[in-house]
Amino acid sequence: MYNCWICKDKGFIIVTTIKEGYKYDYPLHCNCSMGNREKIDYTTDKGTHYFTEPISKYYDVKQLESKNRASYIKGGIDKNMIKKEVDVLYQKLY
Ligand SMILES: [Zn+2]
Repeated sequence: MYNCWICKDKGFIIVTTIKEGYKYDYPLHCNCSMGNREKIDYTTDKGTHYFTEPISKYYDVKQLESKNRASYIKGGIDKNMIKKEVDVLYQKLY
């Protein structure tokens, strides 16, 4: 069981998006106590330094929380569900 069902106590989630043919993975921080540590800074492989954005900017966190609870009960991660969420994010960003 987790204290935070939004990020499953990681403090962040990784989302993937495709821009101009390149795939990007980037973190969004959670608003829980773990997330407060994660949002301080983030440095990419290329040395770009920036602050993460909150999960709540792109996701309905209540919905995400209930999905995480549901997939935990089912005993695994539903890959199709994740893909759907990434598609939704993609549409929101571009
Ligand atoms: Zn969290």
